[in-house]
Amino acid sequence: MVESSLSPPDGAALLCTDCALCCSGALFDTVPVTEAESRAVAALGLEVVRRETGLVFRQPCAMLRGQLCSVYEGRPPACRRFRCTLLERYEEGAVGLDEAKGTIAKAKMLIGQAGAFFAAGENAAGARERWKRGLAPGAPPEAARFHLLMTALNRFLDRHFRPDAQRQVVSAAKDAALPARR
Ligand code: SF4
Ligand code: SF4
Repeated sequence: MVESSLSPPDGAALLCTDCALCCSGALFDTVPVTEAESRAVAALGLEVVRRETGLVFRQPCAMLRGQLCSVYEGRPPACRRFRCTLLERYEEGAVGLDEAKGTIAKAKMLIGQAGAFFAAGENAAGARERWKRGLAPGAPPEAARFHLLMTALNRFLDRHFRPDAQRQVVSAAKDAALPARR
């Protein structure tokens, strides 16, 4: 979520440059955009599309370069406002820097484990949709392993990163639509 030239060592500079989970599709499928913001967001090079819930742009974000936002100074308002649970807790002093970095590292480890079972060409958002459809009766062992790893990953992301209203494990159990981000 941050650019490489940030100067003060604030929470975002210390954590987000090693993370980018809120841009990569690991946490969310889309980012909401208001009608008023849509022209400026599109001018950044992001494709704004209409969903039932309103305007959005998709993740993984096309503006992400490595783990950094390539349009940081002009990033969309929803990106500017967003702070994950971990970043909030770090900035409140409830979580130390080493623990916060460890949480990001563990999330990436879990993503890597689940990613080994992604289908060819499937990204995190697509894998999450497949996981939310559930495990078919008689599914092969690799499908069961994928489902278990995705459940563990999303429990962890719900607990440490996603705001309460945007948790996925409960949503998946209810077969609910992905909630609007931010
Ligand atoms: S998920 Fe949190 S720590 Fe990671 S880049 Fe986003 S706001 Fe920063
Ligand atoms: S515009 Fe930048 S901050 Fe917003 S989702 Fe894309 S990479 Fe992340």
